[in-house]
Amino acid sequence: MSEKTTRPALFLDRDGVINVDPVEFVTKPEELHLLPCSAEAIARFNALGVPVIVCSNQSGVAKGLYTLEVLEQISERLQQMLSQYGAHIDAFYYCPHDDADGCDCRKPKPGLLLRAAREHAIALEKSVFVGDSWRDIIAGRTAGVKTVLVLSGHVKPEMLDLPEMQNHPPDHIAPDLKGAMEWILHQLNSSE
Ligand SMILES: [Mg+2]
Ligand SMILES: [Zn+2]
Repeated sequence: MSEKTTRPALFLDRDGVINVDPVEFVTKPEELHLLPCSAEAIARFNALGVPVIVCSNQSGVAKGLYTLEVLEQISERLQQMLSQYGAHIDAFYYCPHDDADGCDCRKPKPGLLLRAAREHAIALEKSVFVGDSWRDIIAGRTAGVKTVLVLSGHVKPEMLDLPEMQNHPPDHIAPDLKGAMEWILHQLNSSE
């Protein structure tokens, strides 16, 4: 196996990890607001040459709330905002489906991560997925990556006692992406 096929990646959910969780959906670029320090954290991984890949459910497309074209504009807006901090996303993987579509990419299914790993020659067992909901943690575990739950979005501290916590514990819990950074760096280094 070449070196390229064994590199780790940082997979990120979008809403509640990079930008403020909109509760429902981000339906246009203007509704996107960065969480404090998420851009700085991403810039750090960019500087280390770790691919940063977004894996995000966007069932608002299936619901007709916004088109794939608008979703693309939202990604561009996010890149613009990140660029002010010297940060960027290397690739976006979105599931535009809803539960009724029965696709293999809507988290908690691992399809987005598996496809990203295949297309970018990522070693899943060396990689980390950061998300703010149980769907993310289950998708990450199923894909075979290490998982981090951040409390900057969907899951609040008082929700950690719920049965989902016992059934699908993440490998690490942090207040936000910046707070998870040192743990992630340690994982990426120790997997060399
Ligand atoms: Mg989220
Ligand atoms: Zn899907």
